[in-house]
Amino acid sequence: KGPTGPTGFVVQPRRLPKAEASVRVQDFGEIIIKPTPENLETQAGRCTDCGVPFCQTACPLQNNIPDWLGLSAENELREAWKIASATSTMPEICGRICPQDRLCEGSCTLNQSGWEAVTIGSVEAFIGDTAFDNGWVEPIRPLHERPESVGIVGAGPAGMAAADRLREQGYQVTVYDRHDRPGGLLIYGIPGFKLEKRVVQRRIDRLIDGGVTFVTNCDVGKDITLADLRGKHDAVLLAMGVYQARALQVPGAGPGDTLPALDFLIHQNRRDLGEADDDTGHHARGRNVVVIGGGDTAMDCVRTAIRQGAESVTCLYRRDRENMPGSAREVLNAEEEGIHFEWLGAPKALMSRDGSVSAVRAARMALSEPEFGKRREIVPVPGADFDLKADLVIEALGFEPEAFAAHHDELSLTEWNTVATARSGFATSLPGVYAAGDAVRGASLVVWAVRDGQDAAAEIDRYLKARTEEQAA
Ligand code: FAD
Ligand code: SF4
Repeated sequence: KGPTGPTGFVVQPRRLPKAEASVRVQDFGEIIIKPTPENLETQAGRCTDCGVPFCQTACPLQNNIPDWLGLSAENELREAWKIASATSTMPEICGRICPQDRLCEGSCTLNQSGWEAVTIGSVEAFIGDTAFDNGWVEPIRPLHERPESVGIVGAGPAGMAAADRLREQGYQVTVYDRHDRPGGLLIYGIPGFKLEKRVVQRRIDRLIDGGVTFVTNCDVGKDITLADLRGKHDAVLLAMGVYQARALQVPGAGPGDTLPALDFLIHQNRRDLGEADDDTGHHARGRNVVVIGGGDTAMDCVRTAIRQGAESVTCLYRRDRENMPGSAREVLNAEEEGIHFEWLGAPKALMSRDGSVSAVRAARMALSEPEFGKRREIVPVPGADFDLKADLVIEALGFEPEAFAAHHDELSLTEWNTVATARSGFATSLPGVYAAGDAVRGASLVVWAVRDGQDAAAEIDRYLKARTEEQAA
């Protein structure tokens, strides 16, 4: 199987070439170098077709990975595309930004047995890019139009995936978003060095060409209510994500002293989209930057700051490397790019000079002794406080659901303020209203948003068809 045979992984090591760190920090382009077709075949051919595809089980979309790896190894990319696109509405996007080390590649049999995992994500992205380049990506052309309409709140990956599947079934789909562009965090969150904007834009264009209507600059809850949407559409999907940033609670931190991570990233996203933005308040050039937090958003901020020409960039995180929530791959990328990590350091106060932030005072922390079944606690080390020089402090402490202004009295929420859905499925407490993605799960991953969007679309389809049949009867 494949050019390297069933034991090809022994002679062919894993190769996932990245641009040199000193080169890649010069711009915001993707850092993974697109493989040549020969290298792609060799890497895909490392799959042993082990018979128990743990990779597929670990993929939230249950992608049929061994099949498209095998076809890619044989240069049957069009067939590979058919299989990859059957389970996913955005393979080329997930292939780029899934934390594969925690999903498919982490479970790859080669990885489990001491050989390095097949480069599953890179092959998936290559298959998708090749399909776009060769015009194999089918336009959305429903077999017949249906009169029912669906309103979707939020044009992120959950809303886009649902729009794709519903429009394919012939429904009239309108997506409402408060931003000036569709894409959600794919456009106004995740930086270009992980996912270039053009890759998202061609997906958005395909939806528009297929007849999906996007209503942008429309804040549901302010410009239109959920009740209005229920009156206008036969079904509604809530896919508005989570946007309430957790705030830093230390002395000296007041409005204007720090930047919220997403504000900082959105300004750079707009520059990547070709918009003029000379707002120096949201730029790290020449500044000593401290980013507080240890998740993927924090990693995106430190790597954005270094590309903007910061004097120094430090990531301050209260736990140690092993216990940080961010992807190990992204931490390694950040370290290669010259980011300094201050592990086991918890912010204690912001220090100011002449009315501006000058340093972050931090407490040195230590991990408690390990206890079975418990996450290790962190405790401050007495007398070990330290200061980090800072003239730009970015807060990246995670997100919670916003008080969604369109909430209807009868829309049930969970204790975490996410939208409550039926035990199995996506139905909310309001008839005809469904919810998917981060709005239900809390801050999660793109691949889960895609899965939810696709599955919610299937449930809405069943609901609308049953309702139409009932009315006809
Ligand atoms: P979103 O993508 O958040 O989309 C929701 C949309 O709803 C937005 O466009 C918003 O404008 C709109 N909206 C919100 N409220 C309203 C309203 N009232 N009216 C109208 N529109 C509204 N995941 C990964 O898998 N890999 C990564 O590398 C990765 N990196 C990330 C980096 C950052 C900085 C962040 C913040 C997240 C990252 N994630 C990553 C997580 C991932 O982006 C999210 O899990 C995913 O985007 C959730 O999709 P969604 O469609 O549910 O919500
Ligand atoms: Fe792996 Fe994500 Fe692709 Fe699934 S969608 S195969 S987890 S990269």
